Amino acid sequence: MHNLLIEKVETLCKKRGIKLTNQRKTVLNIMLKANRAMSAYDLLDLLKVSEPQAKPPTIYRALEFLLEQGFIHKVESTNCYIICPHFHEPQHISILFICDNCHQIIEKHSENIESQLKLLATQSEFLIKHSVLEIHGICHSCQP
Ligand SMILES: [Zn+2]
Ligand SMILES: [Zn+2]
Repeated sequence: MHNLLIEKVETLCKKRGIKLTNQRKTVLNIMLKANRAMSAYDLLDLLKVSEPQAKPPTIYRALEFLLEQGFIHKVESTNCYIICPHFHEPQHISILFICDNCHQIIEKHSENIESQLKLLATQSEFLIKHSVLEIHGICHSCQP
């Protein structure tokens, strides 16, 4: 699943005419392996294993690229990053269920919510660039 995803990302990059450098690929790999939301500093620590000279700007540049391409989402409320499993549809509205106990994040989509938001935006003559809905609570395995 892991390698398949990287392959898909590589194909998409080729199609878009952009370069997935080794460093960007390494960051993506770290996130895939961890399979959880990570802060830039968590990522930097793990990147340093293979690239000891890596500095905060290194990681922020890689994250910026991955965000721009829609491969990851930024979780503003926890200041973390997660892989987007639906990155081939870059225009989607992402609904994140964030567990306040174990910090697991589940990403969901909803055509209904999407069309409602688009309607509200149109009514307000607002142009949506990107949207992430962050919803906090307790996940299934953390519920008593
Ligand atoms: Zn997404
Ligand atoms: Zn939980």
